[in-house]
Amino acid sequence: MNTGGTLLFGGSFDPIHHGHLISAQAVADRLAVDRVLLIPCAQSPLKRSHVLARGEDRLEMCRIAAKLDPRFAVSDWELKRPPPSYTIQTVRYFRSVFPAPEPLYWLLGQDSLAHLQHWMNIEELLQIVQFVTAARPGGGEPNLAALRAIAPAEAVEQIERHLFATPMVEISASEIRARARAKQNIQFWVPSGVADYIDQTALYR
Ligand code: ATP
Repeated sequence: MNTGGTLLFGGSFDPIHHGHLISAQAVADRLAVDRVLLIPCAQSPLKRSHVLARGEDRLEMCRIAAKLDPRFAVSDWELKRPPPSYTIQTVRYFRSVFPAPEPLYWLLGQDSLAHLQHWMNIEELLQIVQFVTAARPGGGEPNLAALRAIAPAEAVEQIERHLFATPMVEISASEIRARARAKQNIQFWVPSGVADYIDQTALYR
């Protein structure tokens, strides 16, 4: 049994795209984790006004993408629970599945790092998981001042040590939805199986 640990990656994934997948794969390589779990959320507490595609569609697209790397798998844990999806509840659960001292990481985009101080039970979260940030190469230091004001210095230092420069694909799920709505080709933006799924189900029309 390997003990490289688990990288948890939560998001709306509406749809999952190459930006998500390339940064998750690059970070997984860097940390040498055993597995990456994609966890589509029911509803992000910080994006409550967003109307998302059905959970089963977002889950299925994650499943199609996860087949492309044997370390990747998908969890419907958040989708099976009432929204919003608080990360603290998710990581408490996954810590029980993968007990300490096995490493447990939570992947963030650099944009999400800026809001971390608003996450529910952030102090407990910092104790349970190691946050890992996929940062833009040469993109400068993220502003951690707000987090520093509420979190122990050691936890903030650990976050700084887990800022990894990964190849950044500057695309967003909203751009892809807009392209799909306009019937533009999205084959280069998401894995082709995901593009086919969006096409066949007319998901974002
Ligand atoms: P939307 O455009 O609908 O807001 P999104 O792709 O930005 O979608 P999520 O699916 O919720 O949003 O993103 C999940 C996680 O992936 C977040 O931590 C976010 O920072 C990160 N992320 C989003 N886009 C990229 C990208 N192009 N490259 C790397 N990480 C990304």
